[in-house]
Amino acid sequence: MTSSGGAPRPGELVFEAPRRGKPPIHLLDLAPEERRAAVVDLGLPAFRADQVSRHVLGRHEEDPSTWTDLPADARELIGERLLPPLLTPVRAIDCDNGTTVKAVWRLHDGALVESVLMRYPDRVTMCISSQAGCGMNCPFCATGQGGLTRNLSTAEIVDQVVAGARALDTGSIPGGPGRVSNVVFMGMGEPLANYRAVVGAVRRLVDPVPAGLGMSARGITVSTVGLVPRIRELADEGVPVTLAISLHAPDDGLRDTLVPVNTRWKVAEVMEAAWYYAERTHRRVSIEYALIKDVNDQAWRADLLADLLVGHLAHVNLIPLNPTPGSQWTASRPEDERAFVQTLERRGVAVTVRDTRGREIDGACGQLAALV
Ligand code: SAH
Repeated sequence: MTSSGGAPRPGELVFEAPRRGKPPIHLLDLAPEERRAAVVDLGLPAFRADQVSRHVLGRHEEDPSTWTDLPADARELIGERLLPPLLTPVRAIDCDNGTTVKAVWRLHDGALVESVLMRYPDRVTMCISSQAGCGMNCPFCATGQGGLTRNLSTAEIVDQVVAGARALDTGSIPGGPGRVSNVVFMGMGEPLANYRAVVGAVRRLVDPVPAGLGMSARGITVSTVGLVPRIRELADEGVPVTLAISLHAPDDGLRDTLVPVNTRWKVAEVMEAAWYYAERTHRRVSIEYALIKDVNDQAWRADLLADLLVGHLAHVNLIPLNPTPGSQWTASRPEDERAFVQTLERRGVAVTVRDTRGREIDGACGQLAALV
């Protein structure tokens, strides 16, 4: 892990985020009993915590002046102490006629993060960030190039979803009022390197109102470079979210260069942890594979990938590489992508090619760099 103290060396993997800029405690950080205790600490009756939770998590109302069922002084006090502003909008950019929206947020200490809302005819997916920056250093990912600034708190993670839910309530996304059906931890950061806050956020997303937002765990995907001990811990956590593994290469030689954490946990160990996850949760593991022209897109590599997956509860999600500034890599030729897909299909491996929304606003996979 990172040497204690001092700045990380270039290329060094950073697992422990710097502790600077810890955000203030927010209602969304707290479990229901902690919220009641916090409200009692403010000299108010415990039931006020549930009332406020219904406003914030049930109706996405974070502005205390709208909580008309509470006395004005209680509203003010709770608002001031338990709902400090966490995410300040810096910019929102949209495409696809307003149904894809990338939001850039400034955190209390000036750190920047991004989230992306994607509305489809049958669902709304939010891609959210778990860290400001990322310490995993994958060379094809824009976020990785800036290094890690810090971990987000549970509330900073959940508030990205609450903000999206509010935009859908108010009809500001074309298509009429709607709700967030899916959340993917595929924005900035390595979620399993911020394990406690991410698991807290998942609980807040799935717990029923007023404890949480009441989403289905099936609609939530946690994506990881492959932090093996954390994958196993998540498997035992009792929140059956979908696990996505960013594999990108079936062989250690290449994966060591594309996903540098592979030098610590090899492909075989990552796959073993993935199958443990599938066994514990009965959920199909999603294998993410960014197709990079002449780097990892050969049909023989598709065969090696199939060797890893045949007979297991898995599904391959191919992502045509999205361009990032300064990178010499590009997406595969259509014929190579086709051959890759066909090789997997011939071996009986379930495979889809991800539609890459948001490319034109630098909001697609791997493009989030929070440059404003
Ligand atoms: N750190 C986590 C989650 C964030 S990235 C992880 O690595 O899984 C979400 C997905 O986008 C990952 O599979 C990541 O490898 C992929 N990705 C990163 N850069 C990309 C790019 N330029 N084009 C396509 N996919 C990319």
